[in-house]
Amino acid sequence: MDGTIQAGRQGGSTVRGGASGYLTVDLAALARNYEKLSGEVAPARAAAVVKADAYGLGAGQVGAKLHAQGCRDFFVAQFVEAVRLRPHLPGDAQIFVLNGLQPGNEPGCAQQGIIPVINSMEQWQRWSAMAQALGRALPGVLQFDTGMSRLGLPQEERAALAAALRVGGMVDVLFIMSHLASADDVESEQNLSQLAEMTRIARQFSGFDVSFANSGGIFLGGDYHGVVARPGIALYGGAPTAGVPNPMEPVVRLDVAVVQTRTVPAGARVGYSGTHVAAFETRLATIAAGYADGLPRSLSGKGAVYCDGVRLPIVGRVSMDSITIDITGLPADRLTLGSLVEVLGPHQSLDDLARDAGTISYEILTGLGHRYERQYR
Ligand SMILES: *Cc1c(COP(=O)(O)O)cnc(C)c1O
Repeated sequence: MDGTIQAGRQGGSTVRGGASGYLTVDLAALARNYEKLSGEVAPARAAAVVKADAYGLGAGQVGAKLHAQGCRDFFVAQFVEAVRLRPHLPGDAQIFVLNGLQPGNEPGCAQQGIIPVINSMEQWQRWSAMAQALGRALPGVLQFDTGMSRLGLPQEERAALAAALRVGGMVDVLFIMSHLASADDVESEQNLSQLAEMTRIARQFSGFDVSFANSGGIFLGGDYHGVVARPGIALYGGAPTAGVPNPMEPVVRLDVAVVQTRTVPAGARVGYSGTHVAAFETRLATIAAGYADGLPRSLSGKGAVYCDGVRLPIVGRVSMDSITIDITGLPADRLTLGSLVEVLGPHQSLDDLARDAGTISYEILTGLGHRYERQYR
């Protein structure tokens, strides 16, 4: 293994069966990334964040693979995601809902063993009431806001929570958690202030395990690890830390099919609104993916794809279903109808593409869409 994902297709990289392209998910690389992160946080354990269909890669497949790798804690954002994931995981897997306990989901969570992340006293009271009604303890996780102002118990509710915990009750608190807002930036002061706040909370609510680090947090060092780390993007090969080489292995490869080629003279306009004007005679190829397939319109005139390691610039606007690329740099006839070009792979990482699009790897991954033929390896 050289750390890249091989195309793994017969016939010299051409598309079969009318597919527009192949989205290849390397489950072995995913497993190695999990091992690496587990090693990084040991003796703490690594959970897996599989919200948004495991960042677009398939929560069922990803979850099953990581469970086989020893992972037992899985975080989704929403109750419906937990319900969908449950049948894909053995009974000893715990599924946590980060967005909290929505009104009406109490019976569903209780019946299906889905564990809410409690984000307010109001949620705590509803979950406690459910436990009372059932006459049995129900598991929950307590999330605190340490400075992101997004989710979790606000500071002003801590006293009420402490009082409720003194009284006791039927919610079995598995651990307490918080989320870092700037963990990808090792220089950020916000990491230190959130760590100080989490340390204060852990002292006030002593006796509970702590979960704090996301992918970036894992690489901020042991102070941030707590007992359960919650990596997402790093599992899927995205860079956990900005500005340094990415220690993770790529998991996703994307190859897209050529649907037409042509040669245009100098002066020809390319794409919507004719934003690109060919300076010379130019060979062009149109490929079968556009912004509806998660290749952002912001790549218009900026990004590139690759073939045989040659950079093929995107020319003109990204369309809904297609993108036109300049293939003048390749031998004539190298690309024909059905040939594949590399959008994500050894020559272009997720973070490279995200940078050209002016976004982050998370948005690229979760947006990749469902028109590609998916292959799990
Ligand atoms: C999404 C999320 C994570 C995972 O973050 P990554 O940066 O992808 O590792 C962890 N914890 C919470 C609360 C999240 O919302």
